[in-house]
This record gives sequence, C-alpha cells and structure tokens, in this order.
Amino acid sequence: MPPEDTADHAAILARAQARAKEESASFRGLLTPAETWALFKQGEIALVDTRTLAERDLVGYVPGSIAIEWYDYPAKRRNERFLTQLREKVEADRPVAFLCRSGVRSNDAAKLAATEVRDNGKLLAEMLGQLNYIPQWFYYYGGLADKIQGTTLPLDKKGYFAFTRNEPLGVVAAITPWNSPLMLASWKIAPALAAGCTIVVKPSEFTSASTLEFAALFDEAGFPPGVFNVVTGFGNEVGTPLVEHPLVRKISFTGSDTTGRIINEKAARHFKHTAMELGGKSPNVVFADADLDQAVFGAVSGIFAATGQTCIAGSRLLVQDSIYDSFVEKLVGVARTARMGDPMDPATQVGPVTTPPQFAKVLEYIDVARQEGATLLLGGQRGNAPECGGGWFVQPTIFGDVRNDMRIAQEEVFGPVLSIIRFKDEEDALRIANDVRFGLAAAVWTSDIGRALRMSEKLQAGTVWVNTYRAISYLAPFGGYKDSGLGRENGIDAIREYLQVKSVWINSGAVAGNPFVMR
Ligand code: ADP
Repeated sequence: MPPEDTADHAAILARAQARAKEESASFRGLLTPAETWALFKQGEIALVDTRTLAERDLVGYVPGSIAIEWYDYPAKRRNERFLTQLREKVEADRPVAFLCRSGVRSNDAAKLAATEVRDNGKLLAEMLGQLNYIPQWFYYYGGLADKIQGTTLPLDKKGYFAFTRNEPLGVVAAITPWNSPLMLASWKIAPALAAGCTIVVKPSEFTSASTLEFAALFDEAGFPPGVFNVVTGFGNEVGTPLVEHPLVRKISFTGSDTTGRIINEKAARHFKHTAMELGGKSPNVVFADADLDQAVFGAVSGIFAATGQTCIAGSRLLVQDSIYDSFVEKLVGVARTARMGDPMDPATQVGPVTTPPQFAKVLEYIDVARQEGATLLLGGQRGNAPECGGGWFVQPTIFGDVRNDMRIAQEEVFGPVLSIIRFKDEEDALRIANDVRFGLAAAVWTSDIGRALRMSEKLQAGTVWVNTYRAISYLAPFGGYKDSGLGRENGIDAIREYLQVKSVWINSGAVAGNPFVMR
C-alpha cells in the first residue's frame, strides 16, 4: 500500500521532512522508500534528490542493530527473506483479475500499472502483461543468489592452495528510460540484489512515479534501508553525480546511444563497470517463402506495439522484391485498423507518445522521410481522431520505397514510423540489414530452415528472431552489437555482470627462498 493510504502517512511525512533537512555529518539514517514517496507526494523532490544523493554511501543498515552490509546476508536469506517477499507482493493478486473487475484497484501490481498508464501513457493492457511477468526476474535471479560460487584452482605451483571468490561489485547505479520503467529497472535490480550489490535507481525525469511507488513495495517487503534506493531528477543534475559518485562501481544504463556514450566516457575515467543497453534500427526481413500472414502480424507488432517506443522496434522492414507489392498492401490494410485512444481502455492498440519532445521528434522524422523522397503509405500526421483528444498521438505511419542510406532508415525514430525497403535475395538482404551502426535485434521470416540458420548466423544483432518478433525472457541474454551497447542483461550469466572475481592464495608449505624473485 503506498504510504499516503496508511494511517501514519502524516507521521512518515513529518519524519521524512525532519530527516531530509538533517545536516549533521554523523547522520547515518536513510530516507526509506516510504519517506521518499511521502516527500515526492509533497513536491519536495528536489530536497529528496539532495539528501538521497548525499547518502548513497550507505550499503545496508538495520535500525536498532549493528550495521550489516547487504552482501553479508546469507545468499539464501537474500532470496527467501527479501526477494521472494517482493515478488509475492507484486504477484499476490494477479493483475488479470483487476482487468476483469475493471475499476477495482485491489493489489499492488494493478496500482503500479495504473500509475504507469497515467504518468507515461503506456497501454494498460501492456502494463498488466509486464507486471504479470516482472516477478519472474525476482524469482529467477533470487534463485541464483545461493548458486554464486568460486572454484578451487588446479595450480601449477607446489606448496600453495588457491581458490576464487565471486564478490559483489558494491553500489550499482541503474539509469532507466521512460519507455518501460519498471520492466527495464527489474532487469537490473533483480540480478544486482541477488548478487549482493545495493542499487540506486534513477528513473527518467519524465516517468519517475512508478519506480517511486515500486520502492514503497521494497519497504513493505522488509528490505533494510539503503539496499534499494531511488533518486529522481534530470540526467545532468542527478544522473551525472550518480555516475561520478566514488562509491558507485557500476552503471547499468538503458537509453539513447547519445547519453550512453556520455555516461560510458565518464565511467571510463574512473574504471567503473558499465552495461549499456542502447538504441536500435532493427531489420525485420521478410522472404517470399515466409508465412506472409504471420509476417504481416510480426511487422505490425514489431513497429506499432508500445507506439514504436521500444529499443527493439522493427523499424526497417526489408521485403523481398517478388512479394513487395502484395505484402505491403496487406500490411497497410492491417495497420490501418489500429485503434488509437485512451491507454486505460483495454481495447486501445496504439497509445500516445510519452513526452512532448519525443512527439515533436517523431513528427520531424516524418517530415525528413517525406523530404528524402520516401513514399507515404499510411498515417503521417498527429492523431486527429476524436478519441485522441488533444493528446500527443502520432498516426501509425508507413513509408515505402525507402533507401537504406536515407536518414529515416539509419536513425532511431522511437515512434510508430515504419520504413519499408526492397531487397533481391539473401545476400542483398544481409548487406542492407547489417548496413547500419546499430545491432540490437533482427528478425527473419522464412520457411527455409537453412536460410533461417544462415541469416541468424550472419545478422549483426544481439537477438535474432526467426518467424517471430519481440519475444523476450528473463532466460534469454539481451544486449547489443555495435552501437547498440555493451554487456548483456537477462539469462544465467547476467548475474556475473554484478560480480568481481578475487583469487585467494594460501601458502600450504612453500618456503620463501630468495625474497627478490617473484614466486
Ligand atoms: P531517452 O530516455 O529519451 O532514451 P536518455 O537516454 O537521455 O533519453 O535518457 C535515459 C536516462 O538517462 C534518463 O533517466 C535520463 O535522465 C538519464 N540521463 C540523461 N542524461 C544523462 C547524463 N548526462 N548522465 C546520467 N544520466 C543521464
């Protein structure tokens, strides 16, 4: 339950205000998520930013007891006592039930979903799906917590015994974008906490509400203060100090490649670890031998789901010459039926663009495509249907006859704008697909297994789908080739990205001879 619904909200707020103003150097208490939330609701977020930033040096603190660092908790307990509690809070009453009893907000997941829809404009239907799935990250990585182990080393030297320890990196900063705040934060929070790191999440300044509300659940699940933290604010005012904070050892970032480059450069100066999940311009390649009805659906969901505001958007549709005209006709026919409107309405299929700058940018790219000579086949304007009101809607937009060297084919639009490019054969498709600086995802539609395998090997992308699009899982490594980023999230190895290896040497009988010679 968010703090404002509790009887002692006033007390929490008073305590938060007092603690936030506390300037004593010996002040070691943290603002708990509930206190942060209380301040946020009071519009004192700037104050919270200052305080929480100053207090990031704490890593786990148990009030009224000795301070215990988070990584000193037995791994099994981190999972069973904390991560499991959190997961159960989110999945307690499946959000689908909320949909059936429409209007009754009876559980945490449904509240989080509703907050995101109001703050972000994401579709309720998509948010409910995400919240149904998010607990799996906490289940999966929580389960890995007690499987982190070192090895004994089969040494080449006599008289020594050596082993490795996998130790948490320490304080991790997660900087997240506005398109899927809770999902993308969970990809970072779950492995970091399971590994024994503490985490400070900085959500986008446009969509901070859901992450703050999520923070309240950590509080309710009993996490010690300081283990999970949220700071909000602008990138340069709050993100930069977080990136440069001496105690932050890793920055796990999801966002634009421009910002990723800045953060990565700053982090490099201090040899900090980074994970960069950046943009994309993903090719969705349809061969003539594909199941074309399925491919049309794949193309539509690839670009118009989430209003095109996903890093994995299939924004370049490559269609083989021999089926180009009929395929494009079918595609435009399906895309034309997209229902735009109120994101709270479960029937809505394409919602608004999340932010005014993004809205302006998408419309600008539509102009660029026109000027470059692409043929407008659908949309091309702001959403002007009555159900769009005065909102930041952009019509699902399709351009044909796009050349791969046009800006509309090379630059990430991050909106519901599809570019269709013709190709002749497999070789031509590969050349065009890979001729871009990004490499996040790609898809191939074909009924030829040999072609599917050849293409999946040669496409330069961190994820390749065959006869599907937009499939993701906590089990499947996710990340970019080329300018789409560094490191991998999800999958069994992602937990290693929050660990560092230590070699421990024990002398079990070797006697030092000449002290001036290396052993
Ligand atoms: P978008 O979300 O539109 O892709 P960004 O990549 O700029 O845009 O933003 C992603 C996240 O990075 C946001 O939380 C934003 O506040 C943060 N951010 C932006 N600039 C910086 C910066 N210089 N240092 C740290 N974080 C930043």
